[in-house]
Order: sequence, then structure tokens, then C-alpha cells
Amino acid sequence: MPVSPLPYILDIEPYKPGDSKIAGVAHPVKLASNENPFGASPKAQAAYAQAAADLALYPEGTARALREAIAARYGIDAERIVCGAGSDEIFFMLGRAFLGVGDEMVQSEHAFSVYRIVGQQSGAVVRTAKAKDRAVDVDSMLACVTDKTRIVWLDNPNNPTGTYIPYADVRRLHAGLPGHVLLVIDAAYAEYVRRNDYSAGLELAGEADNVLMTRTFSKIYGLAALRLGWAYGPASVIDALNRIRGPFNVSAPAQAAGVAAIGDAAFADQSAAFNEAELPRVTGALEAMGLRVTPSVGNFVLAHFPDDDAARSAAAADAHLRARGYILRRVGGYGFPNALRFSIGQRAHNDGALAALGEFMA
Ligand SMILES: *Cc1c(COP(=O)(O)O)cnc(C)c1O
Repeated sequence: MPVSPLPYILDIEPYKPGDSKIAGVAHPVKLASNENPFGASPKAQAAYAQAAADLALYPEGTARALREAIAARYGIDAERIVCGAGSDEIFFMLGRAFLGVGDEMVQSEHAFSVYRIVGQQSGAVVRTAKAKDRAVDVDSMLACVTDKTRIVWLDNPNNPTGTYIPYADVRRLHAGLPGHVLLVIDAAYAEYVRRNDYSAGLELAGEADNVLMTRTFSKIYGLAALRLGWAYGPASVIDALNRIRGPFNVSAPAQAAGVAAIGDAAFADQSAAFNEAELPRVTGALEAMGLRVTPSVGNFVLAHFPDDDAARSAAAADAHLRARGYILRRVGGYGFPNALRFSIGQRAHNDGALAALGEFMA
């Protein structure tokens, strides 16, 4: 008999990252993975380079200095933080710690596709709540919760739609959950949001015993290559994650760069300020060419192509853009076969992609 993985593993549709290459194009412009157009903080780069001197040494396993830097920045307890090789690793740890065969998890339609993979890896049942106007609908999420539910995932702001739910709704979602359900608030884009009724969930994760908030260094801090994320929540949940965490899961250069990045508020502020101006500019330009755009609070926008015009489909637009060296993200796997996600890049790159799209739509 040949070797075979656990039966539910083969049901997993592998994650599809944004492309970064186009055959025959030397330097394509990638606006497909919500990466930081300013790169990384020079201070984080310097700390990373300095860490090269100590590559023979194992990292401090709990990422203590990084947890302390995060704790100081947010005024929270470092003992209630766990760091991961990207927030993705934390999601997978959550799956191992909280989901077993036959358990259930709840996510929203159009949510980040890693949650589904995490559930399937554990043989859990993935329940997907209907979205409303492409945003998370609290009532439909709550209606999916049963005695078997162990995790409810809230992608806020949601990728790839860029929508968010106000903090009052996050609290209503939490209030409607039984105590045995862990609410995971993935706030990967929190730093970009400019809305008074938004909160990343720090306070809720601080006070409730069934809420965990996750954050990443991949977006506003521009450290996606390093794989660095963190979670904050109740001591009992952090304890469970620490029991199953790889002993040295976050590399020493990543820890060092993370500490420096947290200390470089000016870099993060500049990234957020640029996005605040560029997001509406790109949105307006897309709308002016007749595309419907889902209102976004993140560093990306979802542009919907006309459903009654086969020549102007998302697939055709994608081909047109690639032929000119621009890579946006196809989002068919998220329930949007006729849309493209446009990551806010450098101004000149955005202008180039907008010009190519304008030409396509004309
Ligand atoms: C980019 C992103 C993350 C970050 O993942 P990392 O593993 O930290 O790079 C998490 N959640 C969502 C919804 C994202 O889009």
C-alpha cells in the first residue's frame, strides 16, 4: 500500500499566492500581494543585517525582546503575546490547538483563504456565513455557530474586499458567542484604517477570555519576506499556543528586525499617510473608468468588471495588464470570478496600472 496523508488533507485546495513573474518581462510591477510600496524601514533592514553576525546561534525561543517591544508600544502584557513566523503560523497553531476532527469553525464568505486551510488540516467542518454587501454579516456568522463550533474567524478589515465592521458589531458578534467559542480577530490591516468606529480589538482581547487578536509585520512594516506576526489574548490561549509552538519558530534576524520596525514609528506613519491619500485616488480613477469598486479601508481595492461585457472581463483585463508588465490579483477563489484586487503601490506604478486599465476599459 502506498503512503497516504490523512484523508481530509487531500480535500485542501492549496493557497495561491500572488504571482511575481511574467514570462518575457524583466521587471514586472507587482500589485498583487498588498506589500508595502516603501519596502521596509531602514532601521529594520540595518537590524536584520547586523543579525548576520550571529547566525550560528539559536534565537531566544519566546521572542522575548520583540514581545516586550510590542507590549510597550501598545501598553499590554508581554506574557500575553505569542509571536509567529507570520500570522499564518499563528493561525495554523490555533487550528492544532483548538480544532479536531468533526469540530466546526465559522468564517465569512470572502474571508482570507488561510482560515479554511487551517480548518481542513484538522479535519474540522468549515462553515461559511453569507456576507452582506461583500462585508461580514454578524447575524449570519452567529447563525452558523453550533455546539461544535470552536473557532470563529473575523478578518477585519477583510481581505480581499477591504470592507470592515465597526467595533460595536465586533462586540455584538462576541456577545452572541457561547463561552466555548474562540473569536479570532485578524487585524492584519489595522494600521491603515482611518475610521473612528473601527478598532483592531486590542481592548476586547485584553478583557475577554475567548478573544484573540492577531497582527502582522508583513503589511505596514514591510517585512513580508521575514515572516513575522503576533497574537494577543487570554493567558489560557497563549499558554496553549506556547505548548505547541516550534521551540525556535521565529528566527533571530526576524526578531531583531521586528524590534527595530516597532521602534520606527515614522516609517509606519509615512506608509499609512501615503495610503490614506493614494487609496481614494486609485478608487476614484477606477470608478471614473466605469468599474465598480468595493469601498476599502485597507491598502488594496477590489475592482469589479462588468458582468454583461465578455470583452471587459477580469480575465481579459488581467491578460491586458500582464502584457504590459502589471500583475494584479485574480480573486475567483474568494467568490469574485470577475474582479481584480489592486494593491496600492508606488504612485508611478499605480498610475501605470491605471493607464493600462483605462486603455482596456475605453
Ligand atoms: C496578509 C495577511 C495576513 C498576514 O499574514 P502573514 O503570515 O503575517 O504574512 C493575515 N491576514 C490577512 C487577512 C492578510 O491579508
